Amino acid sequence: MALVHHLYELQRLDTELDALQRRLEEIRALLAFAAEVEAAREGLEAARRRARERQRAFQEAEARTAQYRQKIQDIERRLAGGTVRNPRQVLVLQQELEYLRRKLDEAEEAAIAALLALEEAQAEEEAAARHLEAVRARRQEQEAVWNQEAERLRRRGETLQARRDALVAHLPQEVYAVYQNLRRQKAGLAVAPVEDHACSACGAVLSARRLQEAANLDVLTYCAQCGRILYAG
Ligand SMILES: [Zn+2]
Repeated sequence: MALVHHLYELQRLDTELDALQRRLEEIRALLAFAAEVEAAREGLEAARRRARERQRAFQEAEARTAQYRQKIQDIERRLAGGTVRNPRQVLVLQQELEYLRRKLDEAEEAAIAALLALEEAQAEEEAAARHLEAVRARRQEQEAVWNQEAERLRRRGETLQARRDALVAHLPQEVYAVYQNLRRQKAGLAVAPVEDHACSACGAVLSARRLQEAANLDVLTYCAQCGRILYAG
């Protein structure tokens, strides 16, 4: 194989290996951070807190109605028992009874409202739990797809790496060093095919002499503008 053709093949392998490596890093990042699952988990926690608060509020409202009922019962018992005979005292107790019955009505209304609010919060909590479950399931499917892709890329990478090793073994050491240096300096692209009499990497139009030089694939010819190795194969 002619030297420059050899280098061009190496460049093609390296370009694919670079892309493969970038995609593997992307997949690693995607696997590391599950934003949607995090948001759904936080949503469920907030819904749970709200439901617990409303549960407490409902219990307090229930306790208040029980207290009023108890007080009313006590007074009714005293009035029915006949132990209170003083008419003024009876009147005071009857007034208190009226007041307590009004308070009980209010407390019962508040308890019903608290119960409705609790039921609403419980329904929201259940919906949030179902949402988290669905998001988790979707995420698991997605992760399986990413893991399969990563596995495929790793296998492809091993194949490419073996081919690369074989190619490099046949290259003169100093030529390989030039190639590696250019790769580092030129964003990974050391060899540029000639297309329409121009360097396909930087677009510079090549002189007739340079085109002629590039046609000899046994000698390295460089682009005068970007410095890459020209490949006119
Ligand atoms: Zn160029």
